[in-house]
Amino acid sequence: MPVRAYNFAAGPAMLPTAVLEQAKTELTDWQGSGMSVMEVSHRGKPFVACAAHAEAQLRSLLGVPDNYRVLFLQGGASGQFAAIPMNLTEPGDVVAFLHTGQWSAKAVKAAQRQHLTAEVIADEAASNYTTVPAPGSFMVPSGARYLHYTPNETIGGVEFPYVPEADVPLVADFSSTILSRPIDVARYGLIYAGAQKNMGPAGLAVVIVRDDLVGHARPTTPDIWDYKAMADADSMLNTPPTFAIYLLGLILDWIAATGGLTAMAERNEAKAAALYAAIDGSDFYANPVTPNARSWMNVPFTLADPALDGDFLKAAEAAGLTNLKGHRSVGGMRASIYNAMPREGVDALIAFMAEFERTHG
Ligand SMILES: *Cc1c(COP(=O)(O)O)cnc(C)c1O
Repeated sequence: MPVRAYNFAAGPAMLPTAVLEQAKTELTDWQGSGMSVMEVSHRGKPFVACAAHAEAQLRSLLGVPDNYRVLFLQGGASGQFAAIPMNLTEPGDVVAFLHTGQWSAKAVKAAQRQHLTAEVIADEAASNYTTVPAPGSFMVPSGARYLHYTPNETIGGVEFPYVPEADVPLVADFSSTILSRPIDVARYGLIYAGAQKNMGPAGLAVVIVRDDLVGHARPTTPDIWDYKAMADADSMLNTPPTFAIYLLGLILDWIAATGGLTAMAERNEAKAAALYAAIDGSDFYANPVTPNARSWMNVPFTLADPALDGDFLKAAEAAGLTNLKGHRSVGGMRASIYNAMPREGVDALIAFMAEFERTHG
């Protein structure tokens, strides 16, 4: 096996070594074509089958009901911040938001530019975005077209431990937590995610949308972001990000081969629990997030003495633990421990943290 860093980056993030090895093996001769998957036509039978396989595997793992479309789009999750209101609202409509951190704030801002009324019905500012609203503590306006929330705030490390209730379609930015555990897709009107956290390389955004929400795009919506136009064209209205879709398929196969989402959830929960226990068990490290809303995927932590941050990062890097620097807006450290981060990587980080505390505490 190659020497691989334990890469704690928030995104683009670590990918499973087994998947990269397979991609490497097939890179110059994919399926006997004498070409890489990047060089074949997206309209040829082999690639159409490859994309269909990725969709089928995603549907199988997540249990996507038949009345949902799966779309492979471009423009990242950020593109969807604009595309969702373009597809689901008319000018003047009301849309409701739960504001739990920086990503949900961006979704609000982008929606506001679509000439609608964005009602923030819960805002965790009072806790400095270290909490989620309690179930039932917010009221969705009855005329709202949808309720948008961010199940996992990647920067703050805040994750909803429950699915919000709403009488209107629930729209969720699953970018940094999709495929980390089973979810009940039927509870949602629309799920979207950029691929580069848990689904593969950057360049692909996945949208899972219920049929009744497709076909209502504003006339000014670009075709490539019109859910109906894209669904009708099997997401191939234009040239899709073929390599990213191929790699998504390999990652989904890897998840299926390692026990599916239930086993993935068990591993993720155990990894996160071990890291939080190490942080909580020390006066040297701290995590600000309220325990019931701590993310399984992104674990921010601070050192009691921020003057040691530079030394910590340098020594971690030297130990093969990379990209632990926290988001510039938060400071401190952040360990992103997505599906591809092995338990050994988390254990190596915990051992490193204990040793650093011993020598610097
Ligand atoms: C990374 C991230 C985004 C932005 O994704 P892009 O693909 O860069 O647009 C949006 N929301 C969340 C929750 C994220 O983690």
